[in-house]
Amino acid sequence: MNQLICTCCQATYPLDDPRWRCECGGVLDIEFEATFDLAKIAQRPPSMWRYREAIPVWDDINIVSMGEGFTPLVEVTLAQRAILIKQEQLFPTGSFKDRGASVLVSKIKELGIREVVEDSSGNAGAAISAYCARAGINCHIFVPEDTAAGKLAQIQFYGASLNRIPGTREDTARAALKAAEKFYYASHSWNPFFFQGTKTFAYEVCEQLGWKSPDTLILPVGNGTLLLGAYLGFSDLLKAKITEKIPKIIAVQAENCAPLCQAFRENLDEIPPTYKKETLAEGIAVAKPVRGKEIVAAVKKTEGDFIAVSKEEIEASLKETCQRGYYIEPTAAATVAGVKKYLPCSRPGEVIISAFTGHGLKATEKMLKLLNNR
Ligand SMILES: *Cc1c(COP(=O)(O)O)cnc(C)c1O
Ligand SMILES: [Zn+2]
Repeated sequence: MNQLICTCCQATYPLDDPRWRCECGGVLDIEFEATFDLAKIAQRPPSMWRYREAIPVWDDINIVSMGEGFTPLVEVTLAQRAILIKQEQLFPTGSFKDRGASVLVSKIKELGIREVVEDSSGNAGAAISAYCARAGINCHIFVPEDTAAGKLAQIQFYGASLNRIPGTREDTARAALKAAEKFYYASHSWNPFFFQGTKTFAYEVCEQLGWKSPDTLILPVGNGTLLLGAYLGFSDLLKAKITEKIPKIIAVQAENCAPLCQAFRENLDEIPPTYKKETLAEGIAVAKPVRGKEIVAAVKKTEGDFIAVSKEEIEASLKETCQRGYYIEPTAAATVAGVKKYLPCSRPGEVIISAFTGHGLKATEKMLKLLNNR
């Protein structure tokens, strides 16, 4: 049953076939039965690799890890209500993207691949660069020209070759796709192994709640790597009969770039073309998410919802979160704004989980600019 499967034409390929998309051009998913040995898990170090049997990297010798994961789940009071927040800004590179990068780069090492390409608005590029550095794999990162300086510095310090592309995020993706004709595409949106890493978010939440599912997850969505990972992780736990339900997923987008929110609201079969306006939440401003339909379908299956948040709401949430002692980047504050919008329609006792997705120190110029605008 271990195989790659196309989400468009259902063609299958061996799991160790070094390909990142189907012959038909479709997006690939992974069929793999995750298993959980709760006694063994309890004895292992507190990292995302404690769920070893659930991750399709065969030989331990290939694991590329910096002890990441098992991030604290902390009660934070927002709008007079205590909710549980995963501290995903505490990863080695400062964002949850390390979950995906650790598993994907481990698999890349296992496949014997020596050179990769990736494109991102910053954080995924930093994560892939860091894990490639650790594994001694050559890496080419494509970013939009206006990417935050902190992220650019980080990518270059890890030793990746940096390509700054003029124009939109989509122009950057096109340039990376061209390079992917030569090098393996370590893409966080296309490559299904990335989601085999982000799914550990769900395992950790479940273990931290005493092997129970929460009622509700409130997560950001740009390319949906955290959201689809969480959905996949909770599906694995349900199949393994460890939990009884998949939580309801509330997806948060920025009003100025919310194609999935629109597709959900208007019940569209295709993701509508969107022209991105400027937003504070650059990390979730994805006009054409590769797995858009998958994301909308996952939210629907959990009887969840989409919430769009405005620039003003993001800015207010950023200030409120920092004043509680948590220094997060503006993109991460969009999720907090979504939490605050959701809370009035929650019920008492509902177990709600969200995440601080990225560290504030990555976005110093943006943070300073917000201070100066006061
Ligand atoms: C990548 C990222 C997101 C959004 O994740 P997607 O996988 O694009 O849905 C949110 N916050 C931060 C800080 C990120 O780096
Ligand atoms: Zn196909």
